[in-house]
Parts: sequence; structure tokens; C-alpha cells
Amino acid sequence: MTTPLKLAPRAVPGVGMTGQRAVERLLQRLREQGITDERVLRAIGSVPRHQFIDEALASRAYEDTALPIGRGQTISQPWVVARMTEALIERSLPKRVLEVGTGSGYQAAVLSTLGIEVFTVERIDELLRDARRRFRQLSLDIRSRHDDGRLGWPEHGPFDGIIVTAGGAALEAPLLEQLAPGGTLVAPVGGASAQRLLRLRREGDTIEQDDLGAVVFVPLLSGVQ
Ligand code: SAH
Repeated sequence: MTTPLKLAPRAVPGVGMTGQRAVERLLQRLREQGITDERVLRAIGSVPRHQFIDEALASRAYEDTALPIGRGQTISQPWVVARMTEALIERSLPKRVLEVGTGSGYQAAVLSTLGIEVFTVERIDELLRDARRRFRQLSLDIRSRHDDGRLGWPEHGPFDGIIVTAGGAALEAPLLEQLAPGGTLVAPVGGASAQRLLRLRREGDTIEQDDLGAVVFVPLLSGVQ
């Protein structure tokens, strides 16, 4: 006698049964590592991370690890994406968010899936082209620009949220200037071997800061390529 196959509901399109189990294992791991915001877990569980990396690495897409995306850059580790997203939306869901460092486009896709209007800036044209192709394939309405993101995107500012996904020695003044009152900025700051993930909130004339712990990001560089 044959037992009917039980099909698990597919959250991530196009990953198949094995892939879906890998996604569920990843979500379980994120929970174990302290991610509690169900909105963030749902978003991570529904963005097909395998489409943001090279096919040769696709089998590792749902491991909790950073992976190379070319040009010496990486797609961030899912835990880092989850933690930064959680920190950004904890107080309230921002309407408009600026991301500095599009990279693969994965973090932008996670934010967009949460219903946020996303503006993202990348300095390496080749990476941006790949990210734009993914946004189109997934029908994600994300605005992107090829530029030095340390300058922000003044034409579209101020933003309720700003997320920086490359590590700089200090916070960039133009980014703080483009943060709306009540807005939240999340950014890795510090030298290559001593980066801390900082969250800043603009409250009237003052800026509140908390330290969310040690992280490792590729460097925030000047100019475009
Ligand atoms: N958010 C990305 C992470 C990519 S790694 C993702 O989800 O895949 C960080 C990216 O920041 C790299 O692509 C790098 O080229 C870019 N970057 C570094 N300095 C930058 C700058 N000044 N302006 C814009 N992008 C920058």
C-alpha cells in the first residue's frame, strides 16, 4: 500500500521539498539565536535567498552563513539580516527606508516584503545590475541607485529608517541628516576587527544610541565602480 505524500505548505517559491525543510531549519536556528519578531521570521521565510546567490552556491542558500556574491562582496548572514531588520522595525514599522550597500539585494527584498518602501544605493554597478534583475524577477518595487551611499539619497530623504550594510570607521554625517525625527538608523561602525552594530534614534534634538553587539561586515568604501 502506498502512503499519500504529505505536501508541506510552501512558503518560499521554487525551493522544492528539500529546500523547504532547509528554510524551516534556518527559521528554527534564527529563533534559537534570539530572533523573536514573527514579522521578520515570516519575511525571511518567504524571500527565496537561493535566487540572490550564484547557482553554484544555491545548495547552501539556507545555511546561516554569509556567502560570496562576486567583486569581493558577500550576501550577509541571515541572522545578521534578521537582527538588523528587527532592530530597525522594533519601535514601529518605518514607511520609507534607505539601505546603503545593496549587494545581492537580499536585505532590500526582506524589507520590501515587510511592506516598507525601500530605497537602496550600491557603489558597484555590476552588483547593482544583478540585484535589479532579481527585484524584477520577484516583482519587488524597490528604488535603487548607483552611487556612493555614504552621501545617502538626499532627493528622497528624510527617511524613517536607514540601514547600512557595510562597516565604516564612523557614522556618516549625511546619513544622520537624512534621518527623519523619530527615525531609526542601524549601522556597523568601527575598524575592521572591532565593528559594533549600533542603533541610533533621533528624538527631537537628541540622538539616542544603543550597542547591539559585535559584527563583521565588508568595508564601507568611497567612490563608485
Ligand atoms: N545588503 C547586502 C549586503 C552586501 S555587502 C545584501 O543583502 O546582500 C555590502 C555592500 O555594500 C557591498 O555590495 C558593497 O559594494 C557595498 N558598499 C560598500 N561601500 C559602499 C558605499 N559607500 N556606497 C554604497 N554601497 C557600498
